Amino acid sequence: MLDVQPNLYDLELTDLEALLKSWEEAPYRARQIWEWLYCHKVTSIEQMTSLPKSLRERLQAETRLPVPHVLDKLESLDGETRKDLLELEDREQVEVVLMRYIERRSACISTQIGCSVGCKFCATGQMGFKRNLTSGEMMMQVLHVAREVEARGKRLSNVVLMGMGEPLLNYNHTLAALRRMVDHKGFQMGQRRITLSTSGIVPGIYKLAEEQFQINLAVSLHAATDELRNQLMPINRRYNLNDLMKALSDYIAQTNRRVMFEWVLIEGVNDTPEQAEALAARVAGMLVHVNLIPLNPTEGFEGQPSSPERMDAFVNILDRHHIPHTLRLRRGTDIVAGCGQLRQRS
Ligand code: SAH
Ligand code: SF4
Repeated sequence: MLDVQPNLYDLELTDLEALLKSWEEAPYRARQIWEWLYCHKVTSIEQMTSLPKSLRERLQAETRLPVPHVLDKLESLDGETRKDLLELEDREQVEVVLMRYIERRSACISTQIGCSVGCKFCATGQMGFKRNLTSGEMMMQVLHVAREVEARGKRLSNVVLMGMGEPLLNYNHTLAALRRMVDHKGFQMGQRRITLSTSGIVPGIYKLAEEQFQINLAVSLHAATDELRNQLMPINRRYNLNDLMKALSDYIAQTNRRVMFEWVLIEGVNDTPEQAEALAARVAGMLVHVNLIPLNPTEGFEGQPSSPERMDAFVNILDRHHIPHTLRLRRGTDIVAGCGQLRQRS
């Protein structure tokens, strides 16, 4: 009966209002339920104590409030990263990561089970595509991490869509989840505290530019020539660098937001002076920031992270061309919770 009982987390406020109207309940009940879900972050309908018992019983009988089953919890040695393995209703699994550093507490969530894009260096890409996650399943992940953070008296400050999957290939569910995250009457996450990372799905970037969102867009670039990018990221054969850069210039013009480029440094592959020069040439004059991150090794890819010397040389070239950049340290890799290391257990 799963398909006839809606998952409450999949509903927009207007859907909830329509549902309650069809039950001949007062409209303000929808708002109350919304607040229980996203402000109080309850884990059961029982806990919605401002609702009459009869309404709670009807919700229990005719809707679902799936709370993820936590199969495993792992904490990194430095205590800065923690990874929980969650089981969804159909027993598929997703890992959610909480990163704590400086004043930030960020949740890294997934948008798909697996990924069809097939980047060679990425554990999720190596496992292939299983299915899209619904907006409710994305909210469930965010809420799970937010509850953990709040249990320790803090607040979740950021959400990054950098777990499993390509968000722009699951566009509608991802956008619905983003709208729910930033809802003023609900979860209330600031738009600028959310980062969506894409491998460069050009039509999705044009569409996103129209949404008038103030979220941060990160683009996984990893190579500045089509020849190399075709090898590392097969999606480049579909949307090549010129098309991608054109879409991003349009995105920047429309949103006036800086775009972040992700660049995973792989020893001897994309950390050469030629690639650094090609990158500088491609992004010169654009409102961008380059995030460099040494490769997190994965089982299905032979590449290794660049040595400190090669990273320095790469960074020097970007400096010389005045390209803003940050070299990010590897975090959570001892619990395989680093970027690109999430995959479903078999
Ligand atoms: N599909 C989206 C978002 C998820 S991947 C995207 O590709 O952007 C999140 C980030 O992790 C991307 O920048 C991706 O390129 C990076 N990544 C993938 N595999 C990695 C690895 N082995 N080491 C470091 N970063 C990796
Ligand atoms: Fe998919 Fe992103 Fe991994 Fe590429 S890097 S396979 S797009 S999850």
